[in-house]
Amino acid sequence: MQSNKFKFTNVSIFFVSVGLLTIAVLLNSCMMMGMGTMGGMGGGMNHGNNQSNSMSDTAIVRKGVIDVNSIDLNKDGYVYQCTMDWNVISDENGKCPLCRMTLKKVANEEAVKNLKEHNFEVKE
Ligand SMILES: [Zn+2]
Repeated sequence: MQSNKFKFTNVSIFFVSVGLLTIAVLLNSCMMMGMGTMGGMGGGMNHGNNQSNSMSDTAIVRKGVIDVNSIDLNKDGYVYQCTMDWNVISDENGKCPLCRMTLKKVANEEAVKNLKEHNFEVKE
């Protein structure tokens, strides 16, 4: 008899705690949903466009047979070349997208000579 009574109390405690747990879980999920909506809104507003910048950067990394004269768009006889990455040549002053070094102003012939010395293929 004594043990039966004990069991009964135990079971009711179990049900009460399950009930509380359910309420707690429901409240929790409501809060989570609210936070999720807010987080989504915040993320939607954050448009990063760093990607496009790095895309145009790598355009001055020359590949294959390099035609220095066609890189010299303003035809002043000078281009900007990276002294670490010889195939990085631009008609405008800037920084090397590979090593972030400032490009060096060189005459077209000098750029060609540098490329040849470092085994790059050059169009003449
Ligand atoms: Zn470089």
